[in-house]
Amino acid sequence: MHIAGNPAHLTAQQRELIEIAATLGREKFAPRAAQHDRDATFPFDNYQDLREAGLLKICVPKDLGGLGADFATYVMVAAEIGRHCGATALSWNMHVSSSMWSGFIADALDMTPEQRADHAINRRIHHANIADKGLVYSQPFSEGGAAAAGKAPFGTLARPVDGGYIVSGKKIFASLAGAADFYGVLCTLDKPGATQRDSLYLAVPATADGVSVVGDWDPLGMRGTVSRTLLLHDVFVPHTARLMPEGLYWQAAARFPHMFATLSPTYMGIAQAAYDFTVAYLRAEVPGMPPVKRRMYPTKQIAVADMRIKLEQTRSIFLQNARDAQVDPDKDTRMRLYAAHFTIMENANALAALAIRTCGGQSMLKSLPLERLYRDSRCGSLMLPWTAELCMDRLGRECLYESGERDEAIE
Ligand SMILES: Cc1cc2nc3c(=O)[nH]c(=O)nc-3n(C[C@H](O)[C@H](O)[C@H](O)COP(=O)(O)OP(=O)(O)OC[C@H]3O[C@@H](n4cnc5c(N)ncnc54)[C@H](O)[C@@H]3O)c2cc1C
Repeated sequence: MHIAGNPAHLTAQQRELIEIAATLGREKFAPRAAQHDRDATFPFDNYQDLREAGLLKICVPKDLGGLGADFATYVMVAAEIGRHCGATALSWNMHVSSSMWSGFIADALDMTPEQRADHAINRRIHHANIADKGLVYSQPFSEGGAAAAGKAPFGTLARPVDGGYIVSGKKIFASLAGAADFYGVLCTLDKPGATQRDSLYLAVPATADGVSVVGDWDPLGMRGTVSRTLLLHDVFVPHTARLMPEGLYWQAAARFPHMFATLSPTYMGIAQAAYDFTVAYLRAEVPGMPPVKRRMYPTKQIAVADMRIKLEQTRSIFLQNARDAQVDPDKDTRMRLYAAHFTIMENANALAALAIRTCGGQSMLKSLPLERLYRDSRCGSLMLPWTAELCMDRLGRECLYESGERDEAIE
């Protein structure tokens, strides 16, 4: 079954890249997933395959040596990777976001001519790092406070100094910790009265003085992301470290909200994988299992029908999201986006739970992938800035209030 439903609707590039991801996923990532999950190790081997296949530079513009994929193409390829290894797809998202945010998203935003010229110089360096050298970027923005939810300025500060900035702070859940070559750190310009508008997005070299990775990593799911804590202590970075001009992250978050929706394709892939597994299991086609078919029981057929309905509902809303991404979406598009993100994250877990109930006890043994899908799927709704709760929060408020409305004004 194709991750995008009917592939006839896809462009030639989309079909080709999804096929590359499917082959890598089936032949390389899926067979390695259990070990990375068990040992909570970063899948360097998968990244080497992604590098060789050109997928590290998927969203680097073509004129800078990349594949120039757009939002829709990226999310479908990401879902196909998530189908085979959720942790690889999720951490790859952090990497790809660095070129997507500094690439076509930044292009869609307002900048002064000087900012745009400066941005062109800086991103050329970072996109060349990815496209020509195969380097890996990550995206630590979470700090454990209200900043990652978009409710307060980042506590990590960048103090302007001659030639660049001195960066200090702490990032939690820094996926690719110890694996990335550059950490794409979200921080606040250190100046009196700084607000969220004074955001900065800086590429900090992993080898810079003052950078360290601390703490252990033994979570429920997504264990191969190795999301340990990143400490930045008086780290100097030059001006060219700017992945976006000063303040532009704030504009991007406000005007291109689909930039955060790149977290859900991984979970679309996991939902598909839970369904794929269930069908194979009931047909007695799972390698290593005794050839006992279970598909003839009406209860199994109803359960699979229920799963297929949920899966197609999820896919439809996922594809709608892929088509909708643009700068300055109207309010309805924004609300569809929250609804889609919530649905994909929650349905992935619901499908994995149904898969276990339907297949039964033997299916959840550690020797099979289903229990990993179940654990990985639970992590989706926890991802800031759009956890399941915060999607509900935004939807509920925006369904009932028009922009600028207050209760006193409408009573
Ligand atoms: C596998 C995995 C990989 C991750 N990788 C990365 C990464 O690469 N980079 C990165 O930056 N982060 C990453 N994260 C972190 C993630 O995005 C969240 O920041 C983290 O899970 C939040 O932790 P918390 O639930 O303790 O947050 P808390 O801030 O304690 O929030 C708890 C819950 O309260 C709610 N909440 C929080 N703030 C508000 C508010 N202001 N108003 C209303 N409700 C609120 C939310 O629903 C949230 O789920 C990763 C997380 C996981 C699980």
